[in-house]
Amino acid sequence: MSLDVLAIAAHPDDIEQTCGGTLIRMAEMGYRTGALDLTAGDMGTRGTPEQRLTEAEVAGRHMRLQWRGNLRFPDARLENTLSARMTLAVKIRELRPRVVILPYWEGRHPDHYRASELGYEACFLAGLKKLDEYSAPHRPYKVIYASLYANVSPSFVVDISAQFEARMAALLSYQSQYGAQYGTEGEGSGLFPQEQEIRERLGAIARFYGNLIGVKYGEPFVVKETIQVDDIVNMGVRSI
Ligand SMILES: [Zn+2]
Repeated sequence: MSLDVLAIAAHPDDIEQTCGGTLIRMAEMGYRTGALDLTAGDMGTRGTPEQRLTEAEVAGRHMRLQWRGNLRFPDARLENTLSARMTLAVKIRELRPRVVILPYWEGRHPDHYRASELGYEACFLAGLKKLDEYSAPHRPYKVIYASLYANVSPSFVVDISAQFEARMAALLSYQSQYGAQYGTEGEGSGLFPQEQEIRERLGAIARFYGNLIGVKYGEPFVVKETIQVDDIVNMGVRSI
């Protein structure tokens, strides 16, 4: 398989929250997109890992993914070990993405920044010819970081106004996390917002980033390299 874009994140639903709209937009443009979740959320208060995996499949269809996988690394204690790096590197060699989307490298949840570091190092390892004899080397051309969870200035924002509802549908596929059937009481209540709350919260965040580029909804990304511009006459986003 050869993907154009592969998003890698720690938990099922991280991708939906941070770059789901962008993946949908890329799929609509004809690119082959994929998502790789590193854990199945087995430390989550609600639902079982099997439920999360089933829900991730449904969410993946909403995001029009060509491929989705889960490495079943241990949730809430994700570690950047040699074996984890190798497993991920081999997966990257199989999927051969041109662009990899990783979580931003700082954050509140240790799994998120570990996933970022693990992802970056695996992308590097994947390009080494002698890494393993069964897969061909492949190093992604571009690594971009989904920075929605982090309060940092984005390098660029993708307009997801037309994809916002589909992204919301993808996220709400995680009924064990966001479903209304849990009501306001019971185990974990208060930790996970209900549907209306999550709509408002994610809507507000997407509006904030959209506003930065003069559109309704946006998703923010950070890149470590400088972005090249060839035509300064046709640059987007009005200054005055
Ligand atoms: Zn997460």
